[in-house]
Amino acid sequence: MFNLILFGPPGSGKGTQSSTIMKSYHLEHISTGDLLRDEVNKKTPLGVEAKKYMDQGLLVPDEVVIGMISSKIDEKAGARGFIFDGFPRTSAQAEALDKLLEFKNTGIHLVLSLEVPEHELVKRLVNRGITSGRSDDNEDVIAKRIKEYYAKTEQVASYYYQHGKLERVKGDNSIEDTFKILAKHIDKYLLPA
Ligand code: ADP
Repeated sequence: MFNLILFGPPGSGKGTQSSTIMKSYHLEHISTGDLLRDEVNKKTPLGVEAKKYMDQGLLVPDEVVIGMISSKIDEKAGARGFIFDGFPRTSAQAEALDKLLEFKNTGIHLVLSLEVPEHELVKRLVNRGITSGRSDDNEDVIAKRIKEYYAKTEQVASYYYQHGKLERVKGDNSIEDTFKILAKHIDKYLLPA
């Protein structure tokens, strides 16, 4: 198995790059944002609870997302590997993920961190809001999400750095050029399927 985390602030391109990586390397893509939005749309109890946090640009409580990830990993038991997108976002989530994967005799192999200047992030998210219809892509909530990222999520990078798994990648080149750089890192572990 090969397990990859795509890391970076909101708007850094994790979702866009994940979908190309997933196709090239035949990995299962798990995006906590997508999973949560799915629950919100279906108005499940989890979705109703999560929406309160998402609409304010705050992180959903750890136990909610960890439970969701755990069932998704079980559901895709035969996978070649996983791309985690938007998870882990806190140190507690990172530790829980290690335990979940250890239980399956595997682990995280590589963490690719997309680095994009803040003014570019805001520009991209505001533009996405015009077309995506996402209720959290408006300027007030965007500012809160970025704040939440620096307060709780950025430190997750040091956790993986200490374990020798972090690679920082410039994320404000073109989509294609960024993919090429990411692929070079992944190819050290796994060749395209
Ligand atoms: P972005 O990366 O653009 O912020 P996501 O789709 O990854 O968007 O996440 C949208 C929202 O979903 C977040 O602002 C947060 O409220 C919630 N969320 C997603 N992933 C997590 C997570 N791992 N832990 C807590 N909350 C999360």
